[in-house]
Amino acid sequence: MTAKIIDGKALAERTLAELKTRIAGIPHRPHLTAIQVGENPSSRVYLQRQRASCEEIGIRYTLDELPAQTTQAQLIAHIEKLNAETGVHGVILQMPLPDGLDDSAAQQAVAPEKDVEGMTATNMGGLICGTPNLPPCTAEAAYRIIKSLGLELRGKEVTIVGRSAIVGKPLMLLLLGDSVTPTICHTGTLDLAAHAARADILVAAAGRAGLVTAEMIKPGAVVIDVGINRVPVLGDDGEPVIGENGRKKMRTVGDVDFEAALEVAGMITPVPGGVGPMTVAMLLKNTVASAEMAQKNAKK
Ligand code: NDP
Repeated sequence: MTAKIIDGKALAERTLAELKTRIAGIPHRPHLTAIQVGENPSSRVYLQRQRASCEEIGIRYTLDELPAQTTQAQLIAHIEKLNAETGVHGVILQMPLPDGLDDSAAQQAVAPEKDVEGMTATNMGGLICGTPNLPPCTAEAAYRIIKSLGLELRGKEVTIVGRSAIVGKPLMLLLLGDSVTPTICHTGTLDLAAHAARADILVAAAGRAGLVTAEMIKPGAVVIDVGINRVPVLGDDGEPVIGENGRKKMRTVGDVDFEAALEVAGMITPVPGGVGPMTVAMLLKNTVASAEMAQKNAKK
């Protein structure tokens, strides 16, 4: 068996095209503001991509760079200022914040209607009540990929490896709405392989390269690989390949042993090119949804 590779990039592109049409129907340009506290060279590329994705479909993007010495009170005051600005529809915080700042308290200070990452207690609570408003982007990305496959979900066994607030837990809640039977695994799980092998849909979101082997996959299962891991490129001799800069060459992989899994799974998302592009698309979708809500409320 050779699994069908699920094209997350193509699905993301279709989603972005739909968003462009929605944006055309909003009188005010949706506006996303990212907050970065202190210098973080590794997030530069990510922020540039975020800006490019927004601008490509007509979302205004602002990056507010606050000094590394910013106190918790100053950060909260800045978030509250953005909460009050009617022209800002989405507020995101670049994580992690520098030492001494409380990630969670800052996240919870974002107004729920501008919380386009879906991390506030209000938006999480909406998931539990079955009324999701702005769901966490990565969970919704994985959910939409699963939905796009057009399978009957009712009664399916779904195993999710990872119980974080951004992926595992919200994805479980989204899928429960489709009457699947979910199992969540984590580091306390005694027999990961047994739970995985039962799954009609297996979601790997642990951040551990090679955690899910082909032997753990039920033949014909749908495998959604959320993990993003950087691992050294190995040469024919099994040793790390050294690049021109004298450093080990690296590549990005998921949590699933992709090549081996191709022989067992029915469908599988690649890394890169699977959940990643859809996660960005969901951030933009939430920003557009937030701008639409703001417009509706302004009319009331
Ligand atoms: P966290 O570190 O917050 O959570 C990882 C989860 O996996 C935890 O619940 C942990 O268990 C569990 N876990 C770790 N190791 C094992 C193991 N050996 N066996 C079973 N469970 C294990 O990570 P995130 O949820 O933030 O991210 C998960 C992955 O998804 C990362 O690779 C991240 O880079 C990637 N990611 C991808 C995105 C995308 O767009 N594709 C976006 C966001 C994240 P415990 O709770 O017991 O510690």
